[in-house]
Amino acid sequence: MELITAVKGFKDILPEETGRWQYVEDQARRIFTAFGCREIRVPVLEKTDLFTRGIGEATDIVEKEMYTFRDRGDECLTLRPEATASIIRAYLEHHLHATDPIAKLYTIGPMFRRERPQKGRYRQFHQIDVEILGHEDPRIDAEVILMLLHFLQSVGMESPHLEVNSLGCPACRPAYRTSVQSFLAGKEADLCDDCRRRLGTNPLRVFDCKIEACREIITKAPSITDFLCEECKDHFAQVLSSLAIFDIAYTVNPRMVRGLDYYTRTAFEITTEFLGAQNAVAGGGRYDGLIRDLGGPDIPGIGFAIGFERLLALTADTSAPPPSRLPDLFIAALGVSAEQFAYRLCNNLRLRGRKVEMDYQSRGLKSQMKRADKLKCRRVLIIGDREIEAQQAEMRDMVTGEQVRVSLGDSFAWIDMLV
Ligand code: AMP
Repeated sequence: MELITAVKGFKDILPEETGRWQYVEDQARRIFTAFGCREIRVPVLEKTDLFTRGIGEATDIVEKEMYTFRDRGDECLTLRPEATASIIRAYLEHHLHATDPIAKLYTIGPMFRRERPQKGRYRQFHQIDVEILGHEDPRIDAEVILMLLHFLQSVGMESPHLEVNSLGCPACRPAYRTSVQSFLAGKEADLCDDCRRRLGTNPLRVFDCKIEACREIITKAPSITDFLCEECKDHFAQVLSSLAIFDIAYTVNPRMVRGLDYYTRTAFEITTEFLGAQNAVAGGGRYDGLIRDLGGPDIPGIGFAIGFERLLALTADTSAPPPSRLPDLFIAALGVSAEQFAYRLCNNLRLRGRKVEMDYQSRGLKSQMKRADKLKCRRVLIIGDREIEAQQAEMRDMVTGEQVRVSLGDSFAWIDMLV
């Protein structure tokens, strides 16, 4: 019969890999907690409106990439393509802002975008996501970036490169938009279909386009830096001076607008030369209007998302997660009553936290020793029916080959040997 395989762009994470996933997750939890963040877990499925309103209609994600379907109750639902909108929905729905408008949250989990799968790009991928709500202060922007870089380095990422920009606010961005629109007017013929279509609705999206011809054109476009209002200029200058306090190197990239509509003021990306075309490992920014746009009060926010798979690809050689724990003991049982005894002992030791294995195929000693060897068990306890009667067994050290007689009486003094 033909095997059923996984859906294209969806990947299994096999037991050999999960050790590194857990290690990275542990580091994230440890570092984010030190910065005052708490974990939130939100559903992977949301009402479609949450993303169309949150991320913006005229973005790649909403226009082309969402897994959207009608369920059996005819409700229009979407597998989340990112976490920010869901986290804000939860923050508002549970009135977290009523007790304390400041919420520092993180979540780790799968996101879904129907992009063309290629190296470093999947349809189900994972993000480590942080959202800091309720702070407008530019020092927070630098603090978030400091935390992000510290985390990336803690898991072995070498030379992360920080790009920052300010995207302005509703007071100054419209003038910039108009100026980009006029700059692109007359160049429609050279733009790709998507960009041409978006000229009227969302001309800044051209900055995100991956098509070479569009990229070429947009390099000569006006720079947002020249359009920032005094408040935004000042905010950005303070972000940069706060980064300097921690000696964080950065490049100001006035052409980085990021692919989602909700960003205001600070936007940033962490890139690396080691990822090829998919060179961003993390990205984020401030979204001071998003909570209001989603029906909440006027509360500012800033956050970032790290691509888990890309981070793992980057740190394959440099991070050293602790090796997975090998079994402390293998119990080789020979005979019916020895097997019964072994079954009870094996599970009792596990209940005490020992990692113990045994075989259930009633095979000879040689096969059981082979199995113990394969599982890399340090010690083997060999029990036969006769030994049960005598309340004794042999304990073999698989590394030194040394074998000693141990008592199977009540005290099990030999358990201490297993350390
Ligand atoms: P974004 O939410 O688009 O700002 O993406 C944040 C990070 O998630 C990116 O920098 C990537 O590292 C990662 N990412 C985004 N899309 C994908 C994808 N399709 N496959 C793998 N990683 C992705």
